Amino acid sequence: MIIWNEGLSIGVKTLDDDHKKFLEIINSFSEAIEQEATSDVFETMFSDLEEYVIIHFQKEEILLKKCRYEGLSEHQEQHKSYSNQISELKEKFFSANNYIDAKDISHFLTDWLIDHIVNEDMKLVEIFQKCGISENKNNNNKTWFDKLIKEAISTFSFSKRMFLSALIPLIGMLILGSIIIWKNYQQYAQTDNISKIAHTIFDVNELSHALQIERGLSSGDLSAKNNKFTEELHKQREIVDNAKEQFIKNFESINPKKIALILSHIELLKKDISTLGNIRKMIDNKTISEIQEIDFYTEMIKNILGITTKIMLINTNKEISYSVSTLSSLLSLKEILGQERAYGTILIEQKNSVHNEYQAFIRLLGAQATFYDTFRQIATVNHKNIISQALHASVSNQILDYKEKIIHNEYEKLDSQVWFELTTEQINDIKKIIDVYLEETNSLLNKNLDSSVKNLILWLIYILLILGITRLIIFIFEKSTKFQIAQFTEGMKHLALGGRSLRLEIDNGEDEISQIYNAYEVTRLKLLKGDIYAQLYLNQEKVKYNNQKRENLKLEEMAFIDSLTGTINRRKFEELSAIELERTIRYGHALSFLMLDIDHFKNINDTYGHAIGDTVLKHFSNICKKIVRNLDVVARIGGEEFVIMLPETDEGGAYTFAQRLREIVFKTGVIVEDKEIRYTVSIGIALFKPEIDKDVASMLERADKALYKAKENGRNRVEI
Ligand code: GH3
Ligand code: MG
Ligand code: MG
Repeated sequence: MIIWNEGLSIGVKTLDDDHKKFLEIINSFSEAIEQEATSDVFETMFSDLEEYVIIHFQKEEILLKKCRYEGLSEHQEQHKSYSNQISELKEKFFSANNYIDAKDISHFLTDWLIDHIVNEDMKLVEIFQKCGISENKNNNNKTWFDKLIKEAISTFSFSKRMFLSALIPLIGMLILGSIIIWKNYQQYAQTDNISKIAHTIFDVNELSHALQIERGLSSGDLSAKNNKFTEELHKQREIVDNAKEQFIKNFESINPKKIALILSHIELLKKDISTLGNIRKMIDNKTISEIQEIDFYTEMIKNILGITTKIMLINTNKEISYSVSTLSSLLSLKEILGQERAYGTILIEQKNSVHNEYQAFIRLLGAQATFYDTFRQIATVNHKNIISQALHASVSNQILDYKEKIIHNEYEKLDSQVWFELTTEQINDIKKIIDVYLEETNSLLNKNLDSSVKNLILWLIYILLILGITRLIIFIFEKSTKFQIAQFTEGMKHLALGGRSLRLEIDNGEDEISQIYNAYEVTRLKLLKGDIYAQLYLNQEKVKYNNQKRENLKLEEMAFIDSLTGTINRRKFEELSAIELERTIRYGHALSFLMLDIDHFKNINDTYGHAIGDTVLKHFSNICKKIVRNLDVVARIGGEEFVIMLPETDEGGAYTFAQRLREIVFKTGVIVEDKEIRYTVSIGIALFKPEIDKDVASMLERADKALYKAKENGRNRVEI
């Protein structure tokens, strides 16, 4: 009985059912064989099978047509050959020669079925699945993720998937690295930009300072009647022009993109510079009021100082921004002091409280005070000390004295030139502080720039290093996985080819590859066990077969041999003597038959019993067997009747042999239970006569007649 194994399922229920039906028929064959069924039972089974095979193949072909299977015609050919195999088998089974054993039929059919399913239908599983005929339950409840995985598997080969899984993180690393480097570069570029602009602060400072002095001198020149400021004013104008040229020259060397932030200030400055010539002429001709003059210069300076404020707005390093803001406030202070100088000069020179100028002067003093308050709050102790030193130098007291008198309109003792010089000295002190600050800010910027570049390089090295290490690790993992899979593939091929010796080494029992290896090992051992069992089974079958053969031989032999005496029986004698007679006839040799009968055997039986009669029979046959030659044949043909065939023996030989045998019997008795039983034998001889002896029967008849004669003539005799 062969039980259906689900492993044989091809996923299409109707076809699986057919295969199960075939198996049922094969099993019923086995049963019929066991029960030694009649041939008409086998006949029905064969017709059933043939019918089902045709229906099954048609069904399968229809389904394949539905699925538009390309190899359909080839498959149909295969079906034809499978059908033919059944017909051939049937023919063999029922042929007269019957050269196929009934027992082998179920083997043939099982082999046929398995071959059809495994070698043919299994190939169709995928086709049926693709066209939706297969009832593959796994397909229905697949998540989107499973589908994604399946898609990835069908789109990319294993090597490609490995390559991509290595490439994608690498690309990620590259993008991340590029972003970091880009950010660093931006920071570097910004600092570089500020550093470039910071250079313009130098020029701005110089220019605004020169303009501040020119403004003061212009105010003096406009208000003084004796032209005492004129000479100095002209000198200052030259300084301003130089500073202006220097500024323009340096400014033009900067990339305009980098100064976009301060571009509006620069435009305004250029406009102011072009107007400056006209203002100067108006001052020389005294066609401009002091207030107008101061306003022009103040606006121009305000615009220039605005550049520093803009730079403050650039969001950069805290330290730099703080430094720039201090610088900016110092510049504001200097500007307040500059304006004070200008207005003071006018007030002293006119020795009169000109309303507007006086108002402006008082306002500036207020602004200066406010500036101090604010500055005290934001400045460091160090900054405050520096500023108060500058403001409280020896000139400070004199300036304070001047300011006091201007406030109270006491101009008599005041000299405008002295005021101008004193305030200029103070402003110059502050400018020196500003210069130092500018220097500091600049070195701070440079330091920042250096560290930015250093950071950039460090990041670059770091990214390259990470990239290199990542690639190396990925490479190692990729190679190791591929190596293990290649090993597994080799193992499976080995198994498929029937090899069972290749063992896969498992290093780590946990991971997926190890599980594959484990599964391989289990499969290998199972197959190995299966092979050994199959061999064992075959050996058993062989032993069984040999035993049976031996048994049959024995049975056959037993059928020829007389169980009591161990001599052959009449049937075998007839067979052997017929062959011998044929030879004798062909070659014209001699042949003699001896017919032997124990005398008065009935009496022996009656006197000693049947068992002792048997012993006498054995005794007699042993004597016969002992004295005959190898070629002679002794047979028991009746109760106490024997026949001996003597090939190549003529009358003389036969007679001598018969007499010798008779004498031995006569002389030796059988000893049973200390008693000696004596008996005699009568022998009739028939000699081969070519003209009459065409068969064994005629010779036996004559021998029998001779025996009869021996009995008649008194027994214990030999007659021919
Ligand atoms: P004759 O001298 O005329 O041959 O006399 P006989 O008694 O031998 O002749 P008969 O043929 O009348 O007797 C044969 C007897 O042999 C009859 C039978 O009981 C006996 N007999 C036949 N087969 C066996 C046997 O296998 N064992 C024993 N013990 N006796 C047998
Ligand atoms: Mg007898
Ligand atoms: Mg007899």
